[in-house]
Amino acid sequence: MKSARPLLAFGAHPDDVEFGCGGIIAREAEAGRAVHFIICSHGEAGTNGTPAQRTAESKKAARVLGATCEFLKLDGDAHLEVRAAHALKLAGIIRRLRPAVVLAPSLEQNQHPDHYRLGQLVRDASRLARYGGPAHAIDQLFFYAVTPEAEPAGVPPVLIDLSAPGVVATWTAAMEAHASQLRTRNYVELQLARARVHGLRAGLEYAQPLFPNDPLVFDSLAAVTRSARRF
Ligand SMILES: [Zn+2]
Repeated sequence: MKSARPLLAFGAHPDDVEFGCGGIIAREAEAGRAVHFIICSHGEAGTNGTPAQRTAESKKAARVLGATCEFLKLDGDAHLEVRAAHALKLAGIIRRLRPAVVLAPSLEQNQHPDHYRLGQLVRDASRLARYGGPAHAIDQLFFYAVTPEAEPAGVPPVLIDLSAPGVVATWTAAMEAHASQLRTRNYVELQLARARVHGLRAGLEYAQPLFPNDPLVFDSLAAVTRSARRF
């Protein structure tokens, strides 16, 4: 059973979503949320893997996570530019898919330039989707960090608990689907170690961070029952 409040995740390259927030995707899909990925290149500038291989790896990874995916042509891998026309194109996708939650790469500049440029475009698109017809207002925009360097400094993250049974195994399998990329470095271990550190901070086995674009709003303090710190 899929929830009526879908999640839409944007990635600049075929493996960004899986490495940056794949545990969260596994968790959300397992809980019944419909998840769709928009991947804005075929990774054609990468050191390893042909575009065809990387497309196949993405499709497999999305399937493992319980998500669907589609590819969008913008400027191509390593050539992404921030342009109004791109933001409008992404806004059109948001209007079509009507997600409640949107995930995009963080705006920190010390990472692949396609990542933070796409983050900027998605933020603009989320705003533009509210105008014109048929307008759609998303509930929340969160940023994910593909690498440790991409985590915004000094911003307390929202930590998503990945302790539910099977979530980390599903996420690991999705990352391993990007076999061509694992020839460069052991990215799977890197991401699992990151998630372990975030989890340990909060007394959990594993957790992944998201960084809200705007303050989160709760009906009352009663809804806020957990934090990373034990006072
Ligand atoms: Zn990337």
